Amino acid sequence: MTRKYNFSAGPAALPDQVLQQAQAELADWQGKGLSIMEMSHRSDEFVSVATAAEQDLRDLMQIPDHYKVLFLQGGATSQFGMIPMNLLGQKTQADYINTGIWSKKAIAEAKRYAQVNVVASTEAENFTRVPRADELNLSAEAAYLHYTSNETIGGLEFDYIPDAGQTPLVVDMSSDILSQPVEVSRFGLIYAGAQKNIGPAGLTVVIVREDLLGQALPTTPTMYDYKVHADADSMHNTPPTFAWYLAGLVFKWLKAQGGVEGIAEINLRKARKLYAAIDASDFYANPIALPNRSIMNVPFTLADTQLESRFLVEAEAAGLLNLQGHRSVGGMRASIYNAVSETAVEALIEFMQHFEKTRA
Ligand SMILES: *Cc1c(COP(=O)(O)O)cnc(C)c1O
Repeated sequence: MTRKYNFSAGPAALPDQVLQQAQAELADWQGKGLSIMEMSHRSDEFVSVATAAEQDLRDLMQIPDHYKVLFLQGGATSQFGMIPMNLLGQKTQADYINTGIWSKKAIAEAKRYAQVNVVASTEAENFTRVPRADELNLSAEAAYLHYTSNETIGGLEFDYIPDAGQTPLVVDMSSDILSQPVEVSRFGLIYAGAQKNIGPAGLTVVIVREDLLGQALPTTPTMYDYKVHADADSMHNTPPTFAWYLAGLVFKWLKAQGGVEGIAEINLRKARKLYAAIDASDFYANPIALPNRSIMNVPFTLADTQLESRFLVEAEAAGLLNLQGHRSVGGMRASIYNAVSETAVEALIEFMQHFEKTRA
């Protein structure tokens, strides 16, 4: 088996050890004579897997007891609608910060339910930085403030947690959850699709403060009501059992890496090295303001765009996969999530330098 270096933005790389363990116990989970995929979600076996995964995530993020952790389906995209449905309550307005493509999608969906106030946007600057704290025009009537901590496509990441006062803060952490420590108590709700930094696609994690539950709009479908899932330990219906199990293996792996603190050190080193290589050359460029450069998604362009397809072909031949930028922006993008090793990033840098030398 040869595992190549995978820089996919999502579904993204998973740790080798996790895949090996899943493979080893795929057909016969812990001597039970069947796969974890073939068990009832209500069996003692699966419930123990589910509970351990939640506890490990709670440990990793130091999630306080008055927060519920939900294991849902529908992707982060479903959250774009679930959030206003569940959090507006008696209010009709919600504040959103616009930092790029994912913020815009969240805003567009929220507009179906709420009067959306875009309290700050850096679109006029092509989303090359996040708004400063003093640029946020928060409204007193907002039910919550929503932002995207890491814009996966733009490669733009907040270097601070916005302060919304008493207004609950809601964050789309799909592409940077578990990449570095965050203070969960600053948030009303954190959500993330699993396929970037947690596990396989099909699972969405929601971490929500308990007092925000139970005020869903009356028209909210049962499956879109957080309280229904919270009351049923995310087993109101059949949850995505295999994805939940696999996320649990990733959480155990992450604990073995020194937890979020341990992986953050590696992540920062990986990102610094890659940005340094980009900045050291006129051949490559990244437009994002230094403090807002994402440590998870590193987009870059080639000065000579004619060379892009050659770059991708040769990178793939060198065992470096999925470096093509998002179809909406072009260029290159290296996603360097937790499961992408420092060795992989070093191999990419070496390739980039070699490619430049042979073209200069
Ligand atoms: C990938 C991504 C999404 C969409 O996730 P789905 O699970 O495909 O719905 C939303 N927000 C951010 C920041 C993302 O990176």
